[in-house]
Amino acid sequence: MHGAGHDPSGSSYFCVGHASTAQGAHQAWRAPGAEAPAWICGPRLTAVPEIHAAEELAAQLRSTWLGLDENDPVDPVDACERLGVALAERPRKAPGGQLQGSLMPLSSNSFEIEVDANPHDGWVTLEGQLRDEVLRHRFRFLVMHELAHTLFYEPGEQRPKRLLHASAEQEAFCDRLAGAMLVPPDVARRKPIHPSSILELHRQFDVSIEVAARSLVSAYGDAPLCWLLLRNPEGSPSIQWRPPRAMAARRPWATLEELLGQLGSSKDQTASSQMHWRRGGPTTAHALLLSERRQIVVTAAPPSTD
Ligand SMILES: [Zn+2]
Repeated sequence: MHGAGHDPSGSSYFCVGHASTAQGAHQAWRAPGAEAPAWICGPRLTAVPEIHAAEELAAQLRSTWLGLDENDPVDPVDACERLGVALAERPRKAPGGQLQGSLMPLSSNSFEIEVDANPHDGWVTLEGQLRDEVLRHRFRFLVMHELAHTLFYEPGEQRPKRLLHASAEQEAFCDRLAGAMLVPPDVARRKPIHPSSILELHRQFDVSIEVAARSLVSAYGDAPLCWLLLRNPEGSPSIQWRPPRAMAARRPWATLEELLGQLGSSKDQTASSQMHWRRGGPTTAHALLLSERRQIVVTAAPPSTD
């Protein structure tokens, strides 16, 4: 973490008393000549921290920014209100549909977050309650991602001023920080490496299955294997997500095919099979079919922790 509790930029704003605010108590501010904007609480980041620093930072921000206990789900609207950040939901016509959230510095040292939670791909196939849920999960993630970007700003003469240029690295960090604010790594780490843990995190913290899966994998230091498969009405399933480390498995498709075969040939929603690793002995891979979502969640613990 960079700049926690001190002032790396020479700005007159900074947060004091970090250690004493772990319980979510009120912050003390020193802001000569100006009123400190609420979003300034938290470290100012002048460099993109190492990716695993996101976890500790998220715990701190959940407590000091949001006043949340470990098991509380984030309320993104409340989070924006607390931080004095305006929130607008409106359709964004970004080329390719990639950019679906933005953080705009406003005069009076404030921000507006603009989000369009409508996915621009694969949307037509979803209906009713599931569609509402996907929309809500996307909204929650996008808002927390944009709030994470405010850490890379400091108050300026009128508008918040960037401390660091945009980068893919910063995007990855904000994704990780948003995920860890939505799903506390300490809670995820106390759950076993199993698809049912992902389902529990998804329900408790109101996040997508993918965000829940990413949270479980990262809470265990990116060591477990995980696949989110999407069952296609015709043809073979497609991979919705897997961690980069999926290559640590030896011929994982043989295991996945075995699991899919078991799920296809019985009414069971669960299956298990051996997963072979490139290093270490085999471990048990578990699969869970979420039939209404057409998703299959597969996890395998690394040899050392199975
Ligand atoms: Zn971003």
